[in-house]
Amino acid sequence: MAKVMAVNCGSSSLKFKLYEMPEEKVITSGIVERIGHEDAIFQIKVGDNKLKEILSVKDHGEAVQIVMDAMIKHHIINDIHEIKATGHRVVQGGPYFKESTPFNEDTYKKIESLIPLAPLHNQAHLVGYNAFKKVLPNTPAVAVFDTAFHQTMAPEDYAYPIKKEYAEKYMIRRYGAHGTSHKYLSEVGDKLLGDKENKRLIICHLGSGASISATKDGKCVATSMGLTPLGGIMMNTRTGDMDPSVYYQIQKMSGKSYEEIFQEFNKQSGLFGVSGVSNDSRDVSNEANNGNEDAKLALDLWSRRIADFIGQYYVRLGGCDMIIFSAGIGENAPELRALVLNKIKEALNVDIDWNKNNEARGIEEEISTPTSKIKVYVIPTDEEVMIARDAYKLIKE
Ligand code: ADP
Repeated sequence: MAKVMAVNCGSSSLKFKLYEMPEEKVITSGIVERIGHEDAIFQIKVGDNKLKEILSVKDHGEAVQIVMDAMIKHHIINDIHEIKATGHRVVQGGPYFKESTPFNEDTYKKIESLIPLAPLHNQAHLVGYNAFKKVLPNTPAVAVFDTAFHQTMAPEDYAYPIKKEYAEKYMIRRYGAHGTSHKYLSEVGDKLLGDKENKRLIICHLGSGASISATKDGKCVATSMGLTPLGGIMMNTRTGDMDPSVYYQIQKMSGKSYEEIFQEFNKQSGLFGVSGVSNDSRDVSNEANNGNEDAKLALDLWSRRIADFIGQYYVRLGGCDMIIFSAGIGENAPELRALVLNKIKEALNVDIDWNKNNEARGIEEEISTPTSKIKVYVIPTDEEVMIARDAYKLIKE
């Protein structure tokens, strides 16, 4: 038995989950938010209680210390060296990392070299890693990449039709994201399919950021997010794929800078931009039910784009055995799943048990009927357990 910690550091946050391995039992979890502020927020689970504190946290180093002190104070651990390994989520692994990789000088340098491709994220991951290294200098750490699972894609699935020079010089290609979630869901889905050979899954990770992947026997064949998480399907606040000249035209007409438009495409578009209602799909859904035409259009666009990707991936895989819905919206919003399912059911011979669809909220459930040509499942995702598994591997070997 060993305790390992899954860590997810953002530019001003540190999320953590402590596991007892190999049982995969969650011992505690929590978050430090607003790092760098006088009024940072620290939350930690102690048994069934969630404790919350507002305090000054000057940097990630201090945040790590606060987490460790709290775990000792609340008798979650007696000594910080009970933590035998840490696993760190890293958003961008570029073309270098096909799997989780132990942190060493080379790993660190490569993550650092990829900062231009994910400026906010990779920088923050390294700051977080350094903070842990200071407190636990001899504890092994592993980097778990959001992009690694997608590295099995063929060039025809990841290259963009741009000048070769740009592709090579600036490493411009599709990397995808949410890979840890897609990997987890493909493992669960393949297990549910049992002995069948040639398992073809279409996995819809629909959270506030959202992506779809096509997998064959557990390997990623195609994924919707692109160079950055702006690409692919329409999301809560992101556009997803568009004619690239939309950028040019808005820039020309509005006089705004590309940087400004890039931020708008990331943070003020998608469901939010089209509906003008909210960046939370629940609000958009409620407004659509109240007859708001903009909210209705937003959801029609949203579901049309997802349905189109599912159709595209059906062709890419030469068929499909299972469609999986997951993440915040995919797990909890039957009415939004229904919008998508109604757009694909005829062409793909998908037959849904609508009662089951309505019941499936935050639980694993098959929502298709036994006669459906493609099985449809709701499966809650678990990225942290994948990080914990890879951290545990470090000390098991
Ligand atoms: P992320 O990790 O990308 O922040 P999540 O996977 O937590 O995203 O998903 C958050 C999204 O899930 C939010 O837009 C939220 O509105 C949506 N969501 C959660 N529950 C429901 C629900 N019952 N109905 C509709 N949307 C929901």
